[in-house]
Amino acid sequence: MKTRLCLLLSAVLLFAGPLLLRAQTAPAAHCGDALYPNNREPLLQGQYVKLPLGAVKPGGWLRDQLVVEANGLTGHLNEVWDVAKTSAWKGDAGKNVTPEPCYARFVPRWLSGLVPLACLLDDPRLKKTADQYMNYLLDVQDVASVTPSVEGWSHLARVLPDYYEATHDERSLKLCRKILDYAYSVRDSTNDAVTDPERLGMTLSFGWWYYNLTGDKDIPDLVEKIAKKNVDDCRNYFTGTNVSDFDMAGKDFDTVSEHRPHHGQGVDVNESIQYPALYYLKSKDDSYKACVFSALSILDKADGQVGGRWNADEWLAGLDPTSGTELCDVTELIYSLQKDFEALGNVCLADRLEQLMFNSFPGTCTPDMWAHQYDQQANQVLVSADKRNWHWNDENANIYGFSPNYPCCLANMHSPWPRYVEYMWMATGDNGLVAAAYGPCEVKARVAGGADVRIREETAYPFSDLIRFIVNVGKPAVFPLYFRMPVWAGQAELSVSGQTRASHPPKGEMFKVERQWNDGDVVTLAFHYQVRAETRKNDSVSIAWGPLYFVLRIGEAFKEVQIKEDSPVKTKKPTGRVNWRIDPTTDWNYALDLDRNHPQYTMSTNKISACPFAQKGEPVWNSRKHRYTAWNQDVPMILKMKARKVPQWVMDGANAGPTPASPVHGAADETTVELIPYGCSRLRISEFPTIANGNP
Ligand SMILES: [Zn+2]
Repeated sequence: MKTRLCLLLSAVLLFAGPLLLRAQTAPAAHCGDALYPNNREPLLQGQYVKLPLGAVKPGGWLRDQLVVEANGLTGHLNEVWDVAKTSAWKGDAGKNVTPEPCYARFVPRWLSGLVPLACLLDDPRLKKTADQYMNYLLDVQDVASVTPSVEGWSHLARVLPDYYEATHDERSLKLCRKILDYAYSVRDSTNDAVTDPERLGMTLSFGWWYYNLTGDKDIPDLVEKIAKKNVDDCRNYFTGTNVSDFDMAGKDFDTVSEHRPHHGQGVDVNESIQYPALYYLKSKDDSYKACVFSALSILDKADGQVGGRWNADEWLAGLDPTSGTELCDVTELIYSLQKDFEALGNVCLADRLEQLMFNSFPGTCTPDMWAHQYDQQANQVLVSADKRNWHWNDENANIYGFSPNYPCCLANMHSPWPRYVEYMWMATGDNGLVAAAYGPCEVKARVAGGADVRIREETAYPFSDLIRFIVNVGKPAVFPLYFRMPVWAGQAELSVSGQTRASHPPKGEMFKVERQWNDGDVVTLAFHYQVRAETRKNDSVSIAWGPLYFVLRIGEAFKEVQIKEDSPVKTKKPTGRVNWRIDPTTDWNYALDLDRNHPQYTMSTNKISACPFAQKGEPVWNSRKHRYTAWNQDVPMILKMKARKVPQWVMDGANAGPTPASPVHGAADETTVELIPYGCSRLRISEFPTIANGNP
């Protein structure tokens, strides 16, 4: 039997439905003649407006990746994890939300990936699973009876916009207001199980969404009173100028916890990066906007790693390439960057979003998305349960597994891919569209003059720097399209139906094409990316091309190991639930022999497989055979570069030793090494020493 979600999705998912209903709910008076309503007064207008869920659909390898996710833990979490199977979030009173307050947020975090994934794939099985929870929650009258945790409810509220856009179920709006009222009523509580003040700013995100949709006049003041103290704390913290304050490595726990409660804890920091931007919309105080960019800058200096992330093996952990980054840090930073980009529109925010999505996130998951790490490393030459010098995290944090170290990341690995699709195209104030983040997809939206447009984005991006946009309109229409020019673009070229519109458009800006669009027009965008050598800690070098980082390919030997797991469920049939140790089978201690200004390389490509981030030979869960089988296709791109082995660079415990200072002298004979995309690697070197001229 079809569920309520299935039926409603079928009825209203097409782009015209959500658009019309949303327009009816939000009269145009406050927003001029915009087709996609921007913020209501007294809020400032955001730079862009997110399109309703379902307006952008994945294509090509991106759709394959969503199918991988549906066949992985996201589509089966409630079958293998008791915290999701038996939960107060679906009516099992008191189960798996207390007394440990962190548990309250786990199921909502999973739902925030499952709900959009179900919609984007139009998958009845996933919709039915989501509805077991959503139908119960939407009828809850007393939110504290499920859990008193405001943080748990705030995470659940992040799902409500997606659920409403998919179903137009008015109960989503009522629940949103109930959550805001509850957060307001307990905003001064000092009980950890009720409110974590560092995370109350999350209410800004769904508070503004609810206000814009309903015009409920209580909301601006109510939300401000919930979030103000926290937002001011964030702004003051992020405008700090002392880099060492943002590196907790080597500091003992008492020092860290006294430094500022929670500030310095990676997930808190990354969740906080959205608050000032969203609060700026109401305060109109530029200092809130400015602190977003000062935060990115100082965190890069203190803890920056390849792939747009920061080291934080619980607490911000400095620049060492063997320190760790928690998966939740990556997920929450992705979420914050999307909200920041929607509000502020700076290209650098979407650039970093692509880096996280194509490097740090897939690299910390197995390619079949049945396992993940708690802590990933930039230089990761052994994956094991050996002791490492993490802040607070246990020895299992580096394992690719079910719930290594702590299950928050198990709950938080589900939203990045579907949310990436949701934010690829957005609406502009002049009734056009902006291509915010790239990849194969199709967008359907309404543009100037009320014309319905469909744009198919054909590309292997980021495994190609060439994109074709095929524009379909029922009748000729004049409207603008904006294309993001990443800061790492080469001498890019943009043409429309064979006519060159721009050679070398400025990097780091949006490029606007406004014209009469005819059915079948084709925009061709060639970024002409060049391989870049970026200087990192100890004068080491990292190799990048477009948004991708390339890392040394190291032979991988996977071995299943037993570690402590969080509340697994016994199943009749085998599942993909697993914990992997991975040993290197080839050497990793190479220095690159290159000219940093003009790195020499050869590049080859392969057809992108149905498991886009898998290497040939890696174990991938085969749900038909109910066992792991070796993947038979290789990674989409390979770089070959000159290198020399550095005999003195050896292991330090379970880690690669400190990267030798460059230039390295006396290295071995020259050879050629293969570099593969970071997201396709489970073992890697991404910060290399370099060879002295002539290797004397
Ligand atoms: Zn986590």
